[in-house]
Amino acid sequence: MKHDLSQKLFAEAQKLIPGGVNSPVRAFRGVGGEPFFVLRGKGSRIWDVDENEYIDYVGSWGPLILGHAPASVVKAVTETARDGMSFGIPNPHEIRLAKLVREAFPSIQKVRFVSSGTEAVMSAIRLARGFTGRDMILKFEGCYHGHGDSMLVKAGSGALTLGQPDSAGVPADLAKLTLTVPFNDRVAVESMIAVHRNEIAAVIVEPIPANAGLYLPKPGFLEFLRKITAAHNIVLIFDEVISGFRVAKGGVQELCGVRPDLTCLGKIIGGGLPVGAFGGHAHIMDQLAPLGPVYQAGTLSGNPLAMAAGVATLEALFGDADLYKKLNTITAELAVGVAAAAKEVGVGIAQNRIGSIFCNFFCEEPVTDYASAKRSDTKRYAKFFHAMLERGVYLAPSQFEVGFVSTAHTAADIEQTIRTAKEAFRMV
Ligand SMILES: *Cc1c(COP(=O)(O)O)cnc(C)c1O
Repeated sequence: MKHDLSQKLFAEAQKLIPGGVNSPVRAFRGVGGEPFFVLRGKGSRIWDVDENEYIDYVGSWGPLILGHAPASVVKAVTETARDGMSFGIPNPHEIRLAKLVREAFPSIQKVRFVSSGTEAVMSAIRLARGFTGRDMILKFEGCYHGHGDSMLVKAGSGALTLGQPDSAGVPADLAKLTLTVPFNDRVAVESMIAVHRNEIAAVIVEPIPANAGLYLPKPGFLEFLRKITAAHNIVLIFDEVISGFRVAKGGVQELCGVRPDLTCLGKIIGGGLPVGAFGGHAHIMDQLAPLGPVYQAGTLSGNPLAMAAGVATLEALFGDADLYKKLNTITAELAVGVAAAAKEVGVGIAQNRIGSIFCNFFCEEPVTDYASAKRSDTKRYAKFFHAMLERGVYLAPSQFEVGFVSTAHTAADIEQTIRTAKEAFRMV
């Protein structure tokens, strides 16, 4: 494969944009080498500026459940754009999207739209703090909730230690308010809440953590979180920015039946345009300005193009009763095929999957949490990644990101991917 134009563009980009990218994982630091520049996408495929073709399993990091440039979404966006691109006043598309969100998520009585998942989480955290009059937040190691200051914190060595910031620029005094415990660890949650029960405003969790690779909640863990937070008047926030509309129409909460107080959404809800949302019980949501004392706002919030893209995407999802079943089937075929290829070649992988999200860790032991995810051999992943890329399959450029299958992926795509994986496993 030739990458001349991508190389030229990346050199230029690095002079203009820090690291040449507007979001760090895109720089390929997790796998080495340089990113390609994409020219266009259609369905399951993308083409780079050097006209190389790839089957894409990144899908813009999750939003593109219908694949690239689905006709109905492109039509909705272009038609809406003709009538103007932003207004400083409500537009009817906001109501259409709010209705679809409420239809899918019974725990959401009222919803507010923002422009990213980060913004949704930041706003939900402020709301929980304003609603409870408490300052502390409890989160889980390895769960990503966007890059708001309060969320860029994971545990140090001990589960009971106070938070240390993960990023320069996060005030230590603020990070102290973010407590972290290991995911799936009931005892750690219980003891943290026992110590801080009158100080914790919210427990926030990715109900299926998909930002440190992928691992699943132990049976009963999410139910346990619901019980213990309710007992102490702590707001339970499900961050379903990835899982919402992805693992099921109504996210993880539909699958497990646990109703959080607040839910954060993003990614799929914008159909590839910048959208986030947070919503929940009306008596909490009504604390937001202008009804209540918690301030939250946005120049482009409820933007008509973004709302129209979201509406068209969700209507396509809701319009096909078998859609999630089909996605599950095709992704299972991919997972089984890749696992068989690894076995045949003699490469040990630990595979985690739910619905159309998958992750292949390069380690023998099952991955059940952040600590076991970190045992994966990232050097082998890097080799595998590049071997796949050179053969026309674009996986996430980091072991700790997941892959996404879209409704545009065909049986032929899956077959080609499995064949390619077998060759790539031989290279590692
Ligand atoms: C992607 C993601 C976010 C952040 O969303 P952005 O739109 O990138 O700001 C927050 N939480 C989870 C679970 C995510 O996967």
